[in-house]
Amino acid sequence: MSSNAQRCATCYGEGAVGGQHGPEACPDCHGLGTLPSATVLTERRLRELEAGYASRGDQVGQDVAWLAGEVRRAHHALIQILAASQDAEQDDPTSAQIRGLANSVLNLYG
Ligand SMILES: [Zn+2]
Repeated sequence: MSSNAQRCATCYGEGAVGGQHGPEACPDCHGLGTLPSATVLTERRLRELEAGYASRGDQVGQDVAWLAGEVRRAHHALIQILAASQDAEQDDPTSAQIRGLANSVLNLYG
């Protein structure tokens, strides 16, 4: 387990949960016992929301699709900002602050 991996709270890190016919792979961590990165979890949830609302075919579905696109655009910008701050001098306090702020959302490293 990497130092940044978060133990799954659904299965308590075991990777399995009780089902009707015995143990089943945990639906949240897919049997790994740890959760994927915050970026992966966000993308997974966005896709669930899009799939759930797209079938409605109404304004709410269009609004959710727009909002999901904006979240993806913001995450992409944060990744670019994090990369740019890592290219800067490591001892520069402004770059370190920018890295910390971007990482507080992306949670790519601890
Ligand atoms: Zn789990």
